Amino acid sequence: MTDREGRDMKVMVAGAGIGGLCLAQGLLRAGVDVRVYEREAGAQSRYQGFRIGLNAQGLAALRECLPPRLHGLLDAVTGPMSGERRVVDQHLGELRLLGAVDGGTATDRHVLRQLLLAGLGDRVEFGRAVVGYTEQEDGTVVAHFSDGSSAVGDLLVGADGVGSAVRRQLLPEAEVVTLPGNALLGRTPLTERFAALVPGFGTVVHGPGVSMLLGRMEFRRPPRRAAADLAPDVELPDTGSYLRWVVMLPEPLAPALVALADDWATVRDRLLALIDGWHPDLVELVRQSDVGNSSPLTVRYAKPVPHWGTRRVTLLGDAIHPMPPSAGQGANTAFRDAALLCRSLTAVQRGEAELPAAVEAYERRMLDHGFAAVAESLERLPDFTPAR
Ligand SMILES: Cc1cc2nc3c(=O)[nH]c(=O)nc-3n(C[C@H](O)[C@H](O)[C@H](O)COP(=O)(O)OP(=O)(O)OC[C@H]3O[C@@H](n4cnc5c(N)ncnc54)[C@H](O)[C@@H]3O)c2cc1C
Repeated sequence: MTDREGRDMKVMVAGAGIGGLCLAQGLLRAGVDVRVYEREAGAQSRYQGFRIGLNAQGLAALRECLPPRLHGLLDAVTGPMSGERRVVDQHLGELRLLGAVDGGTATDRHVLRQLLLAGLGDRVEFGRAVVGYTEQEDGTVVAHFSDGSSAVGDLLVGADGVGSAVRRQLLPEAEVVTLPGNALLGRTPLTERFAALVPGFGTVVHGPGVSMLLGRMEFRRPPRRAAADLAPDVELPDTGSYLRWVVMLPEPLAPALVALADDWATVRDRLLALIDGWHPDLVELVRQSDVGNSSPLTVRYAKPVPHWGTRRVTLLGDAIHPMPPSAGQGANTAFRDAALLCRSLTAVQRGEAELPAAVEAYERRMLDHGFAAVAESLERLPDFTPAR
């Protein structure tokens, strides 16, 4: 039960994103004292809702951490993501078929995050931004927050995403590269008309100077109703199925549009001017986009880092290995990290391992699979940014 004699192990997690919450769920199941500190004021504070494709490994890791009573709800709020990949022109004329794929299971990040908050209660503290930490001689670590307060634990896990404050202190040399922004991420409520645009896994539209990638997020059951039936204590957002689309913009125009991050109505109108004359279904898709859930897309990735020598501070998910969404690996890898770290810490909790050795074993495996996923995502970037 204890990592050091006479006292229960306490794990502090910076960041209540999907990786940090997945870890917290697993640790809670294992009886570990876990606290999550989230910078945002609440779970609904900012744009969160894009489609995430889970592969078999990512889904298995997520289920491993999530209590079994929520597995049925998880299944209900996912959707299919397989079939033919079509390439069409701006008038929806078929250019070619790229072959059928099994893309795994579609989920929505916002719905998933709400599901991952279930049962954590006051173990998640919102409005607490971690700004740094101090390692103490007795082997504990102090997390410092932006409001001047602090908390003490045996391990601090930086799950605070691509801009991680924990990584900046632990690995000041670690490099995160921002790719020139030329993409817009939109979402439009799914109707029969729009569903017909994506009969299979996905559709790529190659128009003059502009490309569009279309994919469906079709929940098996509406999330809020599914929660009411299957786990009434869990509150899921009242989100309907949607069509997710990514627009790759011509280079000269991209910076001006991407800079308008907070003004989707203007971005949408400029995009509509750009696709004037395209098939009416595509124009309408953009016109009907959900203002609160569409935005320019910034793509970042990390350069590989060697193992740093284990401390009482470690990292997970985008905080250590952010990657472009081109291979659909970021969340899957964050869940693998979370399940792996959870197993290591559970062994410590049971008295079967020492904390430093358990953390080091996690870090070495996480660095291997994490940076392999970054490399794969970079290799597949050209698929994501199709030739004009
Ligand atoms: C358009 C798009 C599509 C994607 N598609 C896929 C896909 O199909 N499949 C896939 O596997 N992945 C996909 N990804 C990647 C995936 O979303 C990320 O890899 C994943 O969200 C990373 O999870 P995380 O918990 O590490 O970080 P995040 O989800 O970014 O969470 C970090 C959390 O930390 C909080 N935080 C930040 N700083 C602090 C601080 N100082 N103190 C406290 N809290 C802090 C943030 O507010 C946030 O809540 C996609 C990403 C995008 C943008």
